[in-house]
Amino acid sequence: MTAATYEATKEYAESLDREDSLFLYRERFHIPQKDGEPVIYLCGHSLGLQPKSTSYLMQLELDDWAKHGVEGHWKARNPWASYQQLFTTRLSKMVGAQPTEVVAAHSLSVNLHLLMMSFYRPTKQRYKIIMENGAFSSDQYAIETQVILHGFLPSDAIIEVAPRKDEHTIQEEDLLLAIETAGDSLALVLLGGVNYYTGQFFNLKKVTTAAHQVGALAGFDLAHAIGNVPLQLHDWDVDFACWCSYKYLNSGPGGVGGIFVHDKHITHPDTFRLGGWWGTNESTRFNMPKGYVPDSSAASWQLSSPSILNMVAHHASLDIFDKVGMVALREKSIRMTAYLEFLLKKIKHLPFRIITPSNPESRGNQLSLWFSDNGKAVFEALLAEGVIVDWREPNVIRMAPAPLYNSFEDLFRLYDILNKWRF
Ligand SMILES: *Cc1c(COP(=O)(O)O)cnc(C)c1O
Repeated sequence: MTAATYEATKEYAESLDREDSLFLYRERFHIPQKDGEPVIYLCGHSLGLQPKSTSYLMQLELDDWAKHGVEGHWKARNPWASYQQLFTTRLSKMVGAQPTEVVAAHSLSVNLHLLMMSFYRPTKQRYKIIMENGAFSSDQYAIETQVILHGFLPSDAIIEVAPRKDEHTIQEEDLLLAIETAGDSLALVLLGGVNYYTGQFFNLKKVTTAAHQVGALAGFDLAHAIGNVPLQLHDWDVDFACWCSYKYLNSGPGGVGGIFVHDKHITHPDTFRLGGWWGTNESTRFNMPKGYVPDSSAASWQLSSPSILNMVAHHASLDIFDKVGMVALREKSIRMTAYLEFLLKKIKHLPFRIITPSNPESRGNQLSLWFSDNGKAVFEALLAEGVIVDWREPNVIRMAPAPLYNSFEDLFRLYDILNKWRF
């Protein structure tokens, strides 16, 4: 199937659904409704839909709490004391890591700070951070305040790499050149792996290699990358990464975040982390010995005992990801995104262009539509028709077909609505 053979018809979209081996997974999710009909939900990049198994697993956990009280730490079906271990293999497969390099813990902005406490250790000479211009606000604030914490000026220490004039995405060569130019003043490169606004997927391997060449470290915020694009963090030699689980990972609002730390750093004696009892080895944790000794895995970045109910929702969703696997998911994601792009490009009467890279290697499943006019009106008209996308000031509509629960027919219906709609 290539763009040349695509057709903008309902029958064609239905035929793609019939051939789709993941089609039935849609049945495993609650699709919100409007006027008794399922909406066209293209907002998985913002909040993923709820697996139907979540409430069942949640009830089992409540039952265990009711039945065991405090003993649930050891006697629950999935003992709470070691609950996070249920995720290490699954998460490691999703991000391309060893199980000991990942942990589900805290939330994203918190993890960004914790990882910067470990991996942003500036000196007078080497203190700069490279980030992307237009990064998600929370990432900007985290970086800004870390710089201040260490006694530097954000205006001096933070280097933002921006798109060129009249462009929306960042040229890879500009990023690599900025790293080389910063040279031995550079402490850290910290980027969104997939930019939340444009959907641009950076070449994390190349960026990491470039950072290492000048003696800096490379870390990534994978909020829009995990569960969306293929990742090989260990092999790419990425130093650290973190993510949230309520977007593509469907683990519910405020879902538990995650951390990756490359194993070369985990046991390195110079690696500092802030201490909490949950970061120590499980076998001695409850003896509460004096003196903080971190566990010899990424689990050592945990601080508190985790929110188990939050993790149950994570469990429900990762079960599904584990069954499908990232290879099949990505394959469908590429096809869906290409079909959506084909349909959108046929719409000539609305003043938008797609600013997401057209090369599938440089994007996940999100397409960002940049409107020169009337974008908000189009967004509101879509909402009224039961199409859930999202609006980003000043003039962008983001939409993301999620391969686990969107259908090709969803995409055709969106096209049909846009096609008929007039100002
Ligand atoms: C969604 C998102 C966040 C949100 O952070 P929380 O701490 O989970 O609220 C931060 N950064 C990026 C890049 C995001 O996409």
